[in-house]
Amino acid sequence: MHLSTPSPAGRPAPRTNLLRWPVLRRLARAPRGRLLLQIPLLLWALLVLYDGFTGPQVAPENIATVSVWLHYRGIVVLVLLLFGNLFCMACPFALPRSLAHRLSLRGWRWPRRLRNKWVAIGAFALLLLLYEWLDLWASPWLTAWVTVAYFVAAFALEALFEESAFCKYVCPLGSFNFLSSTISPMQITVQDSDICRTCPGKECVNGSAAVPGCGTLLFPPQLTSNMDCVFCLDCARACPYENVALVPRSPLAELSDPGAWPLRWDLGLLALVFAFAALSNAFGMAPPFYDLLERLGAMPIGLRLVLIFGALNLLLPAATGLGVAALSRAISGSRELLRHNFGRYAPTALPLAFAIWLAHYGFHFATGALALIPVMHAFLQDHGLALAGRPDWTMSAILPFSWLLPLQVIATLLGLAGSLYALDRRAGRTAAPPSRTALLPWAILWLLLAFAAIAIFSLPMEMRGTRFMD
Ligand code: SF4
Ligand code: SF4
Repeated sequence: MHLSTPSPAGRPAPRTNLLRWPVLRRLARAPRGRLLLQIPLLLWALLVLYDGFTGPQVAPENIATVSVWLHYRGIVVLVLLLFGNLFCMACPFALPRSLAHRLSLRGWRWPRRLRNKWVAIGAFALLLLLYEWLDLWASPWLTAWVTVAYFVAAFALEALFEESAFCKYVCPLGSFNFLSSTISPMQITVQDSDICRTCPGKECVNGSAAVPGCGTLLFPPQLTSNMDCVFCLDCARACPYENVALVPRSPLAELSDPGAWPLRWDLGLLALVFAFAALSNAFGMAPPFYDLLERLGAMPIGLRLVLIFGALNLLLPAATGLGVAALSRAISGSRELLRHNFGRYAPTALPLAFAIWLAHYGFHFATGALALIPVMHAFLQDHGLALAGRPDWTMSAILPFSWLLPLQVIATLLGLAGSLYALDRRAGRTAAPPSRTALLPWAILWLLLAFAAIAIFSLPMEMRGTRFMD
């Protein structure tokens, strides 16, 4: 791949570069540095498969269901909030790409028409639908099969295509992590953009004989976003000048910058789907959802779920987003393309959307984190380890139940404040800033989403993956 002079030109050198810290520097330079993180997750995935297929088929007693639906989701949102996309960095599903590179397999390019987020939007909505339809959270066996499907899909796409097509264009977990990491406090950039300007090989993206370049085809000197960055540090390994930097940043810096993302329909819609799905996923565990299912009682269950989640996760975000963008453009009297309004402001949903996911997954983690102790206790005893005592199946919560709703409300309100701030900053930093009134439709939409989230959190929630669900 050949790239022109990096931009933005003359970007000031970052004051803090975490890749200059001795331990991280060694990790970033070590040829198998990423493997150190992938192996523990690979072992965990194998344990999920083993216990999912052979262990007790009772969700709160199986490593597959408890660790995937309680721990993975709870920990991943906390890590995204505090550090960044470390799960993608350690993702065991990405191992096939490394294998293909070692075997010198050169795949095809991913079809040009699919180099966008439309497939990712469909895959994300499909996974959420299957989660409800198949009650994945309640079935160790199906959870194990989903893990197998992930390995097969990742291997097939990574082996067939040159770039990391699965991560960038398909993976629903990757989409979740990419979107969430846009408010993470760390980002890849370069130490000195002048070095990049005269760099002949651009190894960070092109790779070298020994090290692959960026699998998702990002070019560090031009990065303005964490979107599509799997934090693999291949760019840092490949750069002959040690010029790649990992820098701290304000969590709202990216979403406050109107130039951080291209103004595209698919990217804006992905952000809105992520926001509406945060609500629908929580709604799917509350009593009004079951009332709605009953009211549609004449139809098969699959069709009812397709109708409900198709409407909530795809139709509603698309229709609302388009309507709000049209209204905002009309109020401002601007002649800009509708796509520009949509693409510029829809991503400002992300702080609120992430806060709703955090509040939801944090709820399950807080009510069930200790459940893994008796599960592991029983697993080890079943496999011949003479541990003293019997598993204490009452172990579960790490926070008092009465704290949870206030914490969820606080998280949602902070997310709302972040979205409103990003909206205002994005508008203020465009070439022709619109009037504040033009932002009202978007601000009202974020307010309504936050209100809906708090209303849903105030309902009694189904306790999934813990013994409370029995
Ligand atoms: S390989 Fe290094 S110096 Fe060259 S363009 Fe990439 S980051 Fe810059
Ligand atoms: S820019 Fe590319 S190579 Fe560098 S950490 Fe991100 S995904 Fe990996």
